Amino acid sequence: MLKDTERSAQTKRPVVEALIEALPEGSILLGPDVTQRSAGIWRDDHLLAEVLIRPQSTAEMSQALRICYDHHQPVVPQGGLTGLVEGGLTRPSEIVISTERLNHIEEISVSERTMVVQAGVILQSIQEAAAKASLMFPLDLGGRGSCTIGGNLATNAGGNRVIRYGMARDMVLGLEAVLADGTIISSMNRMIKNNAGYDLKQWFLGTEGTLGVITRAVLRCREEVTAAPTCLISVESFEQVIALLKHLDRGLSGHLSAFEVMWQNFYQLVTRSSAPPLAEEAPYYVLIEAMGAESAHLETLLAQGFDAGLIMDAVVAQSEQQCLDLWALRDDVAQTFQFGPVFLFDVSLRLNDMETYVSAVNTGLKDRFDDPKNFTLGHVGDGNIHFAIAVGGDTLEDRLGVEAAVYEPLIALGGSVSAEHGVGLEKKPYLHFVRSEAEIALMRRMKQALDPRGILNPGKIF
Ligand SMILES: Cc1cc2nc3c(=O)[nH]c(=O)nc-3n(C[C@H](O)[C@H](O)[C@H](O)COP(=O)(O)OP(=O)(O)OC[C@H]3O[C@@H](n4cnc5c(N)ncnc54)[C@H](O)[C@@H]3O)c2cc1C
Repeated sequence: MLKDTERSAQTKRPVVEALIEALPEGSILLGPDVTQRSAGIWRDDHLLAEVLIRPQSTAEMSQALRICYDHHQPVVPQGGLTGLVEGGLTRPSEIVISTERLNHIEEISVSERTMVVQAGVILQSIQEAAAKASLMFPLDLGGRGSCTIGGNLATNAGGNRVIRYGMARDMVLGLEAVLADGTIISSMNRMIKNNAGYDLKQWFLGTEGTLGVITRAVLRCREEVTAAPTCLISVESFEQVIALLKHLDRGLSGHLSAFEVMWQNFYQLVTRSSAPPLAEEAPYYVLIEAMGAESAHLETLLAQGFDAGLIMDAVVAQSEQQCLDLWALRDDVAQTFQFGPVFLFDVSLRLNDMETYVSAVNTGLKDRFDDPKNFTLGHVGDGNIHFAIAVGGDTLEDRLGVEAAVYEPLIALGGSVSAEHGVGLEKKPYLHFVRSEAEIALMRRMKQALDPRGILNPGKIF
């Protein structure tokens, strides 16, 4: 039990009393222990919630949720708080459910290539554990050192290797989640094939903690890849970027595992403080990774690309460190923050529309702002572009102006306002542009069926 002096007014609430009574010591944090926590990566505000529950097992999670459900108490699941759409934001009256103490890798099966993990395990720890067992867990993204697998699954994260391995959804065989009323749904399937009825795990993948709290998962690993030749290529036009994608994807026969594009202004920014691996005059820079391919084969394809006029220049990483250095450039989005407040976007659209679209966004920004900066990059092989846009301020008017510049041409082209980050609160006003009324009505019916009291991450998505 906590000392009286440690209790704020919040703790006198019956729901908090009940939680403190039911859960082991150390499970509940209160007051400043919660409000001093950051509200998320790259944010300078703090959590508004004053109570945080951190269960150590699925049974404790179930107990906590049952108490919250009985008290009609809204809760917000949180993993590593690297989400970029305000999905983990809290209100003062809400209670955080953190997976920070569900942080064990329970089992690795080398022969079956599976891993059983708790939801709070950090993605990088999973990658490293897989590598130690001579396996590979293919999910990879810039937030790998802080994001949790539970958050990855709840947002159906994409990342760098979607072109080859799909999104987080494609890397999970089984899942355990706790419903709003505390019911445990344990679907810890280990088979690749299992069509016996509804695939219940899909309810919790990409639904951002609105239908259940993920507690454990069976992950699908792959055989370790001994080589992953990596190179950076400069390209003269977007048409050639598209042709290069076709050339490499075809030539690498399934080994192309990343096709990341940096527009010139992003490349110039991230190479400012070090010698750039390639001269900076090209409009596009493509980072290629070919897991499992022979380096010599990639080099042959590059030579063919030069001959066909698709490539201006290229550098092939000669060591593990050089690979990491090339990826570090691509991941260095935080450099854009030196231009003041930055609005981040994550959109998807057809490859053939991308060039027209990016120039429409830039025109829209220039029409609305004096000196806008739009640093552009993306998982272009998957039709996914990110913008980091600075317009000198971050008033509501600035935000609405930037969103109009980004979303108006996107919607006209049939693109999506969220490629991989989810909806959270940030994209909620735009959901109806990309989902029909019938689709949103069905989402609401699903929510009503699983969480009739609306306690799980209320107000997020729709
Ligand atoms: C540098 C950087 C690079 C990034 N790159 C990518 C990228 O390439 N691709 C990509 O898709 N994303 C990317 N992201 C976004 C982010 O990392 C992902 O959204 C990640 O999957 C979130 O995981 P998390 O543990 O931090 O979740 P959180 O931020 O804590 O939560 C995200 C959402 O999931 C819910 N949630 C969290 N845990 C659970 C759980 N156990 N059960 C149910 N709901 C839960 C939360 O309520 C919230 O709605 C990047 C972020 C950063 C900072």
